[in-house]
Amino acid sequence: MYANIIIDISHEKVDRTFQYRVPDRLIDAVSEGVPVKIPFGRGDTLRTGYVIELTDKPNWNPDKIKEIIDVEQGLISAGDISIRLAAWMKRQYGSTMIAALKTVLPASKKQNRQVHKFISLRLPEREVRDFYNECVRKKQKARERLLKEFLDNPDDRIPYEFVTGKLNVSAQAIKALGDKGIIKIESEEYYRKPIAASSDRYGKKVLSSEQQHIVDSIKSDYDAGKRDTYLIHGITGSGKTEVYIALIDDVIKRGKQAIVLIPEIALTYQTLMRFYRHFGDRVSVMNSTLSPGEKFDQMERARNGDIDIIIGPRSALFTPFPNTGIIIIDEEHEATYKSETMPKYHAREVAIQLSKLLPDGAAVVLGSATPSLEAYYRAETGEIKLFELNKRLTGGTLPEVEIADLRKELREGNRSIFSRRLFELMEDRLNRDEQVMLFINRRGLAGFISCRSCGHVFKCPHCDVSLSEHRGGKLICHYCGYEEPRPKICPKCGSKYVSSFRAGTQQIEDEVKKYFPDAKVLRMDADTTKTKGSYEKILGAFANKEANVLVGTQMIVKGHDFPDVTLVGILAADMSLYASDYRASERTFQLLTQAAGRAGRGERKGNVVIQSYQPDHYSILAAANQDYKGFYEEEIAYRDLLRYPPVSHMMSVQIQGKNEDEALAFATKLRAVMEQQKLQNVVFIGPASASIGKINDIYRMAIYVKADDMNILIRLKDLVEKYVRMLEDKGYLKYLTTQFDFDPVNGF
Ligand code: ADP
Ligand code: ZN
Ligand code: ZN
Repeated sequence: MYANIIIDISHEKVDRTFQYRVPDRLIDAVSEGVPVKIPFGRGDTLRTGYVIELTDKPNWNPDKIKEIIDVEQGLISAGDISIRLAAWMKRQYGSTMIAALKTVLPASKKQNRQVHKFISLRLPEREVRDFYNECVRKKQKARERLLKEFLDNPDDRIPYEFVTGKLNVSAQAIKALGDKGIIKIESEEYYRKPIAASSDRYGKKVLSSEQQHIVDSIKSDYDAGKRDTYLIHGITGSGKTEVYIALIDDVIKRGKQAIVLIPEIALTYQTLMRFYRHFGDRVSVMNSTLSPGEKFDQMERARNGDIDIIIGPRSALFTPFPNTGIIIIDEEHEATYKSETMPKYHAREVAIQLSKLLPDGAAVVLGSATPSLEAYYRAETGEIKLFELNKRLTGGTLPEVEIADLRKELREGNRSIFSRRLFELMEDRLNRDEQVMLFINRRGLAGFISCRSCGHVFKCPHCDVSLSEHRGGKLICHYCGYEEPRPKICPKCGSKYVSSFRAGTQQIEDEVKKYFPDAKVLRMDADTTKTKGSYEKILGAFANKEANVLVGTQMIVKGHDFPDVTLVGILAADMSLYASDYRASERTFQLLTQAAGRAGRGERKGNVVIQSYQPDHYSILAAANQDYKGFYEEEIAYRDLLRYPPVSHMMSVQIQGKNEDEALAFATKLRAVMEQQKLQNVVFIGPASASIGKINDIYRMAIYVKADDMNILIRLKDLVEKYVRMLEDKGYLKYLTTQFDFDPVNGF
């Protein structure tokens, strides 16, 4: 018996396994995931390794294979939970063990420790107020903002990057206040043993009876030893976060830790500060701007018990706490919870599995205003417990939503990108100095361009996607970066009616400026948020009313509360309906509901105008009526009828290759291999070219397999994996790759 072993996982790069012999005396003790002592390298240094795979096949000369010395006792349990989780993910989602391990193990590189800066008040509140009043008088806006923040919360230690980022206060302004002795700037290293924050300082909220009911139910399940999954369905502002905080409080009192997942983009300053205020230094935030070294430090702090709560994107799930007691997934419907690389896992499913693997289990709490069909379906079938929060606690009334029929606008001679109703409301709001948000889900100057005369669409020769028009007369491919000059006449028919088909963010910005020359416009899309901190800066500037209009892609519909926004325009609501996958309606409904929810957060009533070419579509109507249940009923019927997830399950087998014919022949063969099993009630579709048929000259195609039982799909996946490995061992498939995606969330 031989064991393939990965060495010293948290210190070395996990990139390959080494083979060792399992001595007879250890046969019973050694299994996948078990930590072992092994001699390593020339000097046979004693190292720790993890057994990844057992096999009876030696990789090379059996006489030269070293022996495992012993099973390693008393290693941190997180380690073997990670291994077992990785083994589960490998099997569930189809990937190599290495890829699965790399996913679940914390970043391994230790780098220079970074220093973290915090700002706090040096002077008593009364004196700060005098300075504050002086700043107001001198119109020193940035200083005013910072001091206001402190006057509201005099005991805060605000992370430096929040002040420069979300609060949009310059380094000079901070320094000036520091030089005057008003604030102090402290630096500290991560490894300092943090002081436990006294949460009473911040005056805990008295929960409403609905909130208390949720907390009590989950607590009593916990006391009864049950570790369930819960879904809190509640609109933004209905008090979900307050419930999370109460639940975390309870879990910490039990000596356990909490993982809070949030979609990266929703990492709002206000929400984070609430966690900081409540839990002080016991909370740590993980975000994409952290270096691998910082992430590693964070993991170490979690492992050592220096923090109790981690807040972060889906990878925060793999935080090696000694005793995780609760996993919270906020905005659980977000697509970012699904990994785009192998293993293509979903954080929701992995959280539930992790809870099962933890020695003492963990409660899993999902929250959303527009739950995924997956979560709600399971709530309906009783698999998870559903709670509803129906009232908005932030005050403000729900906005009035209207739908503008774009076909009618065109028929009646309106060729602008604004419907007459939206235009009228924009005029009104700008006159009253209130704020407007305009939302579109596309980037670039003008989306894709086409010939109005013959319908020719300009596509990237390498990627088979439409080119986007950008300023400066260029057409650009968003996948590979290919560019060509924008043609004046159609290469196919010679017509000069070559134009943009749909508006992009830049064009909307230009139009707003054209019709409302006095309006100050900010634009937020992938192009304006490339640099670090720009996202926060734009939102910060808008929050400070430095602009009247914010134009943007889906990024603007999340995060931040803007009390002065009283009008939201959704310019082309059905754009996402054209996406060629079964989740198009769900995504449209979620986007529209979220976007609509941006209006009327303050005292004044808000309006929303949804512009659409399909005003009768159920996802648009339901979003306009804020009717989740109505949408769910229609959508689940459709999924049921066509056997789509979550009613049924779907696996996409994705094949990529340099040669189109070869890839197609191989894909066809894979389908045949699966079909040979003659399984009942399994549906095969394809192979067909993927929605993006070619990227960087690599052809992409997919076979879709549908079955009611996920395990059948997993069995078929195992079969394909085995077949592929067999061919690879023979030296075939050099230019072909095969990947799997279960219940796909993002198109391929
Ligand atoms: P959600 O997470 O659903 O968006 P939050 O928990 O952020 O909702 O609550 C919305 C607002 O209502 C916040 O400003 C919060 O401080 C406040 N809030 C929440 N629960 C209560 C409560 N029980 N009493 C008073 N204010 C509350
Ligand atoms: Zn043409
Ligand atoms: Zn391209």
